Amino acid sequence: MLYDVIIVGAGYAGLSAAKKLKEAGKNILVLEARDRVGGRIYTKTLEDGNYVDLGGQWVGPSQDRMYALLKDYNLETFHTYDAGKSLMRFNGKLKAYKGIIPPLPVYTLFSLDAAIRKINKLSRQINLEKPWLSPDANYWDSMTLMTWMEKQMGSKNARLFFQIAAEAIFAVNPAEISMLHALFYTKSGRDFDTLMNIHDGAQQDRIKGGAQVLANKIADELKENLQLNHAVKSIEQDDEKISVRGDNFFIESKKLILAIPPTLAGRIHYNRSLPAQRDQLMQRTFMGSVLKCYALYPKPFWRNRGLNGLCATNEGYISVTFDNSPAAGNIGVLMGFSLANQAKALNELSPEVRKREVLKCFTNFLGEEAAHPTQYLDHSWMDEEWSRGCYAAIMPPGAWTSVGKIITEPCGHIHWAGTETASIWNGYMEGAVRSGERAAEEINSRV
Ligand SMILES: Cc1cc2nc3c(=O)[nH]c(=O)nc-3n(C[C@H](O)[C@H](O)[C@H](O)COP(=O)(O)OP(=O)(O)OC[C@H]3O[C@@H](n4cnc5c(N)ncnc54)[C@H](O)[C@@H]3O)c2cc1C
Repeated sequence: MLYDVIIVGAGYAGLSAAKKLKEAGKNILVLEARDRVGGRIYTKTLEDGNYVDLGGQWVGPSQDRMYALLKDYNLETFHTYDAGKSLMRFNGKLKAYKGIIPPLPVYTLFSLDAAIRKINKLSRQINLEKPWLSPDANYWDSMTLMTWMEKQMGSKNARLFFQIAAEAIFAVNPAEISMLHALFYTKSGRDFDTLMNIHDGAQQDRIKGGAQVLANKIADELKENLQLNHAVKSIEQDDEKISVRGDNFFIESKKLILAIPPTLAGRIHYNRSLPAQRDQLMQRTFMGSVLKCYALYPKPFWRNRGLNGLCATNEGYISVTFDNSPAAGNIGVLMGFSLANQAKALNELSPEVRKREVLKCFTNFLGEEAAHPTQYLDHSWMDEEWSRGCYAAIMPPGAWTSVGKIITEPCGHIHWAGTETASIWNGYMEGAVRSGERAAEEINSRV
């Protein structure tokens, strides 16, 4: 059978593309390498019936497509728990504070605030559709975010604190990422404050039942149009059609959407070499490093002490924690992010040592009670064969301005989706959905 469109990848990008094309009456097939849908979204149900989101989880204001889809499928969100004081353990000192302004010395705060206002201001100039055409694009793309931080902030403590926020946002060390990409990403997600915050920010809401439920619902509708455990290994095309091959399958279609991260697209074999710039783009982008670490307790005990479970630190393997308890608060769930170089280091340790080290971090924040969870689990996205890192692919210096313009350009019958190709909410579920819908629109009139 010759399909109209094959979609490779059943993350939010692939699923949204499939949904649109199926609704338009196209004969489609989604091929997914894993034995589940959702990709970088993975909700794990625990033995006691509770669940944890091991991958992406939050939605927030201006993520309109995600909220619309959730509504379409009668799914509800609830507010991330943020009532009470946050904690900051900075240079060995633990402090509690209310609101979003951390208790730092005045000069540090001044320097930090000026940097956040400056990055917001600079990001407003970015051309989201074509970042390489933004004012001074070459200049910003010639330096890393760290270089800019060093120029911008006179206070070392301000830089250290900014780094915690930047690593939580990008999941890479600021020395690895192009400043142009940082500016693009900032505007793509509205501004730096939105990316950092819970209230009115990217961490505002959680999805009841977990972030994968929406993917499961979309997949239920695709039924025979979806094949799991189908890893695409090679793609062949001629002027008339395109075909994909994997272990024990060979399937043909008129068009194809690759809804996978660029680094993974670079591992597929293509009979017709892709244009040089496309290949170079796939060589250059790289995935961030994240481990999500969970400790479960009989109750969210920190709430009784007036704490909201939000801790930030520049020490140890965990840089930020959140109260990830269920909406009902019937059990306590503390989630810690290990990010960037700390994630790489934590990932080298044995599971037992990892658990010990993470609980040590949690105990540093919340005291001895945190040392005795009823359950501990962590998940390394770097080890996942079909992701190899998270949250998303990152552009190092020079990439946007040299090969970035090819990012959504079709190659013969191949069209590109995936959160990495989104101009709005790049790196997020929202970006994935928008990218899938954009790719579907590109193809819709052509098949
Ligand atoms: C720890 C973590 C926290 C995050 N937090 C958030 C958050 O709170 N909010 C938010 O909005 N976003 C968050 N994100 C980012 C978000 O998960 C991603 O932006 C989004 O899920 C990407 O969707 P996608 O469809 O573009 O790609 P993916 O989800 O990666 O989907 C690609 C799919 O393609 C499959 N695939 C890959 N190669 C092949 C192949 N050769 N053949 C067949 N199939 C293949 C993969 O298995 C996968 O299912 C987070 C991510 C992680 C990991």
